[in-house]
This record gives sequence, C-alpha cells and structure tokens, in this order.
Amino acid sequence: MSNQCADVVIAGGGVMGNATAYYLRKKGCSVIVLEEEMLGNGGSSRNGGGVRQSGRDNRELPLAIYGIGNIWPHLSEELGVDIEYHQAGNIKFAKDERGVEFYKKVVEQNLKKGLELRMLNQAETREICPLVSDEIIASCYCPSDGHANALMTTLAFYKRARELGARFITGEKVLSVKLHKGRAKGVITSRGNVYEGDKIIITAGYESRAILNSVHIDVPMRRKLIEVIIIEMQPKIFPMMITIPDYDGGGYGHQTDHGSFVFGGHIPLENYLRPEEKEVTQLITTASNCNQLVSYFPYFKDAKVIRSWSGWTDLCQDEVPVIGNIDEVPGLLTACGFTGHGFGISPAVAACLSELAVDKEPSVDISGLSYSRFIM
Ligand SMILES: Cc1cc2nc3c(=O)[nH]c(=O)nc-3n(C[C@H](O)[C@H](O)[C@H](O)COP(=O)(O)OP(=O)(O)OC[C@H]3O[C@@H](n4cnc5c(N)ncnc54)[C@H](O)[C@@H]3O)c2cc1C
Repeated sequence: MSNQCADVVIAGGGVMGNATAYYLRKKGCSVIVLEEEMLGNGGSSRNGGGVRQSGRDNRELPLAIYGIGNIWPHLSEELGVDIEYHQAGNIKFAKDERGVEFYKKVVEQNLKKGLELRMLNQAETREICPLVSDEIIASCYCPSDGHANALMTTLAFYKRARELGARFITGEKVLSVKLHKGRAKGVITSRGNVYEGDKIIITAGYESRAILNSVHIDVPMRRKLIEVIIIEMQPKIFPMMITIPDYDGGGYGHQTDHGSFVFGGHIPLENYLRPEEKEVTQLITTASNCNQLVSYFPYFKDAKVIRSWSGWTDLCQDEVPVIGNIDEVPGLLTACGFTGHGFGISPAVAACLSELAVDKEPSVDISGLSYSRFIM
C-alpha cells in the first residue's frame, strides 16, 4: 500500500484524462493519472475519429465550436505528433423526405448558434461526394467539421503530458473517492493504494458512475456498444466524414490517411452478447455495418473488411455529458456521459477541466452540462 500526492489526481487514462493532464501540466500543476488497464483502453482508441459541430445539442455545441476554432488545427504541431486532423467537412445524407425535414431542422437550429451549415440538393451532394448512391436526394453539409486519428490523439496527449512531468500509473483501478471534512481529497484503488490531491477528476467513461457513487453522486448513464469496421486500403475516394441518419440505422465514417476506410455505428445487439463476448464484434453486427455502408455507397460492395472492433460508450440520460465541478462534493470534478460523441470535443473539455481545477472560469460556458441539472 502506498500513499502518493499531487495537486490533481485523475481517474481514467482515456483522451479526457490524458488531455486534462496535459493542460494541467502546462499550468504548472502536478498530476497523477490512474488507469485501470492500458491508456486509451476505452472508447478513446476505438472511436470513429469524427470531429464535428453539426447536429450537436445546444449545450454541447460551444465546446465543439471552440475546439475546432482554437485547438484542433494546431494540435499536431503543439503535441509534436501527426494526429491526422483534417477539416474536410461532414456530410449527412437523406434518402427521403423524412431525412430532408430532419436535417432542415438541424440546419435551422445550428445556424442560430452561428455554425455554417447548409442543405445540398441531389446534384450538389453528388458534386462534392460523387460515389454516393443515386437514392440520396439531399444532404446536410458542414464544411468546418472534420476528423482525426483517435488513437494517435489519445496517445499524443499522453506522450506530451508525460514529457511535461505528469505521472501515469496503469493497473490502478479506482474504487472510491476519499473525503476529508466533506471535501474530495483523494481516491482509493483496488490495490488499497491511496492517492491524494487538492482536486480529484473522474474521467473513467461509464465506470465513472460507480466511482462517483462512492460519494453518493449518481450520473444517470447506461452502456451502449458501437461497432466499427475497417475496409481495405482504397485510392483516395473522398476527404470528408460521412453520416447516415440514426432513423435509417445510423453510421459514420471516413477514409484514413493510410487509405483504409473506417465506418461504424450502433447495432443494438449488446444485450444479447454471450458472457464471454465482452467487447467483441459479432459476425451479425459486422454484416449490418457492411450493409448499411453499401446501401449508401455501392462503391464498397466488393471491398474487403480487414478488421472490426467495438467499444462501449457512456450514454447519458439526456444524451449530453456531465462536465465540471460537482457542487455537492467540493474538490470533485468529472467529465463523463459523452454518449458516443466525446472525442470531437475532448481537447476543449480537457482545457475547461484544467481551468476549473485551478479555480478559473472555463473558456467555454459549460453551465448547461453540470451535474446539478439532474437534481430536481
Ligand atoms: C466505436 C466508437 C466510435 C465512436 N466514434 C466517435 C466519433 O466519431 N466522434 C466522437 O466525438 N466520439 C466518438 N465516440 C465516443 C468517444 O470515443 C468517447 O466519447 C471518448 O473517447 C470518451 O473519452 P473518455 O476519456 O471519457 O473515456 P474512455 O475512452 O472510455 O476512457 C476511460 C478510461 O478509464 C479507464 N477506467 C475505467 N474504469 C476505471 C477505474 N475504475 N479506475 C481507473 N481507470 C478506469 C478505462 O480503462 C479507460 O481507459 C465513439 C466511441 C466508440 C466506442
């Protein structure tokens, strides 16, 4: 058993934890990050890499706009690693009037928030994305959205934070938050180790719920499995992120710098996984992803799937995350409940968490994302 101290102790070494450690080190705070398994073990290294503003809830949108305007374009240079960020747009397809009406509302709502987003008719859609099926009658296009390499981003934040002096300890499962006179002052791990800090930040994805429960905080979340397929290398086909609407099965993807194509979505079969299949993709879900992609892009009908994986997301009750100080427990902060769209806002979330941890106003108004919204 050991007892170790830092200004800030973070539970969870995904993109949120690693990026927060980086921004905290830039502010001169000492930081310990505790990770149960491998760094980036959760959704952070398994995700589709979408960095979008379009279609986000109004409470979350300012984080996406801030990140894309101020952080993502310079991140490769700042971290010293090519994270393959491309601001190449995001196009969401409509096959029928229902889709057109749905996206018109998205455009209207996002325009009010100052986001450049527009409807394209069939000809305009085909002009920027010629391989799309003839069945597509319109699309919703956001030119300032984009994508990045999720694994590289997660590890780049880790690498740079570590170079700056953050400590990362793997194999440490945080079980509970330790209180002193009503304040969060540390965490206790399954090995019986205690890590003490002036600020405690919980960024452990869905598992944040159990850790926060130890001090009677309960973020209403459940787990949802997203499945991803990787298609063999292709010549350059299109640069943007593509999105299929949820009401039509859902899915999104992009071509990587390497040429392979990443595509995935929620195939609602997680409740039927056999016990030994904790996070594995199943033949049936891979086939569903393939069908989905080919129905929008017949181009892929003979392409080979070379790999598939899946990952859990932390689906919050109102589909936006809980971010910031937890007023009920001074000294305790969290960022969880990202509902499958946390990667794109991760640098902005981490920057805000680091500001809150040193008692500064966050650069973005995140008041709509506080835990207190659930206290009636
Ligand atoms: C397949 C898939 C596709 C996705 N696609 C996109 C996308 O295109 N765009 C987008 O914006 N978002 C996407 N997401 C969501 C995105 O990946 C997440 O919102 C984001 O990675 C959340 O990061 P995180 O650091 O909060 O959580 P995680 O990446 O889950 O990290 C949490 C870490 O905490 C660790 N941990 C858990 N319990 C404990 C404990 N008790 N003690 C210590 N450590 C613990 C875990 O091992 C893990 O490493 C996708 C997610 C999945 C699964």
